[in-house]
Amino acid sequence: MPNKLFFLILSCFFIFVQNARSQDTLSGLKIEKKNGVSYVDGIDLGRKLKTQMLWRSEAGILQIGTSSWALDNEWVSIKDTTFLLKTAVQKSINEKQSFWLPLPSSLPVFERMLNKTFEYDSVSAKITAAQIKDIWSVNLDAKNNGEVLELKLLKAFVVEPFYVHPNYILRINGASMDSTMFLDLVKKSAVISRVVPIQDEQSAQLTLTLRDNWENPELVKKDGGKTLQIVLRKKLAAIQPNPNAAVPVAKAETTIPAAGPIAAGSATKKIKTIVIDPGHGGKDPGAIGYNGLQEKEVVLAVGLKLKNRLEEKGFTVRLTRSRDEFIELAKRPKMASDWGGDLFISLHCNAVEGKERQQKTDGFKFYILRAGGSEEDKAIARRENQAIALESGKKGKDEISPAEWIVLDNQLALYAEKSALLAGYLVEAFDGGSIKKLQTGAGQAGFMVLAGAYMPAVLAELGFITNPTDGAFLATEKGQNELADRLTKAITSFAK
Ligand SMILES: [Zn+2]
Repeated sequence: MPNKLFFLILSCFFIFVQNARSQDTLSGLKIEKKNGVSYVDGIDLGRKLKTQMLWRSEAGILQIGTSSWALDNEWVSIKDTTFLLKTAVQKSINEKQSFWLPLPSSLPVFERMLNKTFEYDSVSAKITAAQIKDIWSVNLDAKNNGEVLELKLLKAFVVEPFYVHPNYILRINGASMDSTMFLDLVKKSAVISRVVPIQDEQSAQLTLTLRDNWENPELVKKDGGKTLQIVLRKKLAAIQPNPNAAVPVAKAETTIPAAGPIAAGSATKKIKTIVIDPGHGGKDPGAIGYNGLQEKEVVLAVGLKLKNRLEEKGFTVRLTRSRDEFIELAKRPKMASDWGGDLFISLHCNAVEGKERQQKTDGFKFYILRAGGSEEDKAIARRENQAIALESGKKGKDEISPAEWIVLDNQLALYAEKSALLAGYLVEAFDGGSIKKLQTGAGQAGFMVLAGAYMPAVLAELGFITNPTDGAFLATEKGQNELADRLTKAITSFAK
């Protein structure tokens, strides 16, 4: 059985995505047609919208909220804005007396006045109203030397930008948004390879995954904070004439549908692309085990088998390495993000020193990226992080610093729960297999190879390469097949 803790901490992280839009249909409105034009009874509509009304019948003027409507007149004004209706306001329609407003051309007046969107469906003769979100417009401007993503807000909010290459995260505290506004962004942008909008109780949060060759994004505030511009500049060497300059992204008014589900961000989307990371490789053999067995060989063999099995299940699978080559630690999760991965699994074998310990220490364990963890788990992370010492021009640091943990906070907030769930499935699938469980089978520590993977991510210590029993099993085709089968089972269950 998986550790119960993992299931407890998942709970309600993504629930609010579904409730991002409040919408209601104004039912029972008096709507009539004449000469092919629909009209709504203005007094009836004003009542249903619960706005203040004043009817000066002798002057033929109806005031609804701050808007003034005059009989036989096509002009309506509120404050500093004037609207032109397609047809004039009518006193009587089909022998019914009232104050008839033409549809749908009257609706923009109410939209501006009430901060709502209205849609009229002429077939069902119904008007639907939806609250406008705080982020009411999204626009992408392509320029020769980069792009500007502009967000328009109803008012100023406290915003917190974070940037951990390749992900730019903008948190707008207390704001609401409609996630569907960001659907077209990736298609229109040469910079942004992925957008994850997440609406929760506290904030609207946008994570943009950026492609290479871009300077650090800059946040510019205008209109007293009501306009936010994320400026994405090309690095000087990368600037070339841009034939697709100035491609606007549709504004909120045209992209907010009146009904239908909110498109979920990738945090809730189905698992399609799986990135398998066979650890070590090339000049980094990883741990050397029983009979000279090398960790890099075992994990590559298992990784290739796992790829075949997952592809048979219909997943798209990418390997960070499919041969014996050296890849830097930080590059691996970045590859996964660039590929639009939905799940990242880094494959490793565990090791201990000293003949006596090697004899009695065995078992599998699955790790997620999180601070804390036992001293033993921290030691395992340090050992796996040592690969960084082989990277050219880098000092042999093997721990994530306190400052780096702070920067990683957003990744952790977004994906720690899902990663823990994945680890739970893995423990469950491995329980009762040929390799025993080490402690609870799951743990947490600062594994650098998981830092920067903006997706559920787990590091697997498949078994102890230094243990005679585990080592012999890891070395055989039969053993590697079993491991690939169990990994497949867990990932398939998780992806359902
Ligand atoms: Zn390793």
